[in-house]
Amino acid sequence: MHLSTALSRIAPSQTTAMTDRATQLREEGRDVISLSVGEPDFATPDHVVAAAKAALDAGQTKYTPVGGTSRLKQAAALHFERDLGIKVPASQVTVSAGGKQAIFHAMLATVSEGDEVIVPAPWWVSYPEIIHFAGGKVIPLHTHAKANFRFTAADLEAQIGPRTQWLMLNSPGNPTGACYPAEMLQGLAEVLRRHPRVMVLSDDIYAPINYTGAPHATLASLCPDLGERILTVSGVSKSHAMTGFRIGVAAGPEWLIKAMERLQSHSSGNPCSISQAAAVAAFEGPQDFLADWCERFRARRDLVVSAINAIPGLSTPTPDGAFYCMVDAAPLMARFGDDKALALHLLEHGVAIVPASAFGGRDGFRISFAADEATLAEACSRIAKAVA
Ligand code: GLU
Repeated sequence: MHLSTALSRIAPSQTTAMTDRATQLREEGRDVISLSVGEPDFATPDHVVAAAKAALDAGQTKYTPVGGTSRLKQAAALHFERDLGIKVPASQVTVSAGGKQAIFHAMLATVSEGDEVIVPAPWWVSYPEIIHFAGGKVIPLHTHAKANFRFTAADLEAQIGPRTQWLMLNSPGNPTGACYPAEMLQGLAEVLRRHPRVMVLSDDIYAPINYTGAPHATLASLCPDLGERILTVSGVSKSHAMTGFRIGVAAGPEWLIKAMERLQSHSSGNPCSISQAAAVAAFEGPQDFLADWCERFRARRDLVVSAINAIPGLSTPTPDGAFYCMVDAAPLMARFGDDKALALHLLEHGVAIVPASAFGGRDGFRISFAADEATLAEACSRIAKAVA
């Protein structure tokens, strides 16, 4: 084996690894409910599927510009303005193979050996790994259930140092569901104004899935004066149930968009041409079903939260957004050892979840409740039996 120094710094993604393991067990005939991956179970909307078929029939099967077709860049600019309140020209938008690739390219393009990136914890599994791969140093900003897993302006200020390059902001957040209201973001902006070197990667992929009743708030819309140092990442995977299409979009300063596209020209080239046509339909077509889906997620959230809180030894706060619950299982650790052992035990009992340690947390696990209510109820009853 001749692994590079950069690869040696990272581990495989535990969300995708657990999902692959659950799929493998199912293929072997085992009855496993997978609540490990964040993937809406809803069917991709018909008009999106029709657009993909039409693109195939029209022979749109060739290379496109590296950063996406101008049609999709315009549709994405429409999305940023209409849905997130961020007014950008198409030249400040790029398209990648999922939001994950946009984040990967943004970090590789800007983080040098020893640069620091502040990452609120619990975090999405891939943030620290991408930063480590780029040679950066992860500065964890720990958040707690009793504060709705949110950090304050003072918490942020305490972590900023001379090497701070980026702050990762993810609202609604994976895996905690944390949502930052406008006034908290304004407070963070005050700190950022005092530290002009620090950039912000605002990962807004879960924007439409917000249960707070307040409209989605995002830094680039609230503080246009900081626009030159904010990269906002969005996409269609979670909002439009299009995970397999692999389309993410990002809006930010032109120099950064160009740098990301320079990298993409050597990594994957353009995102899939058929998927790009489908994403145009997603951004330009009807959006009214999104509120409907959000209500269905809310019902599932309520079911899971009350079922989990009824199980002795387990507890979870009620998430404000996205479709994940962070379950605290600390009282069970004396019996199970650690959260990885508990995850394996639950898998033996037919439920796949992801241990909290994958997200920089501990003594618990993440449930993705993007499944129908009958499946979620059955999963919670299996979890109850498994830990009884
Ligand atoms: N973002 C989703 C999750 O956290 C999809 C899998 C992944 O890329 O991590 O489950």
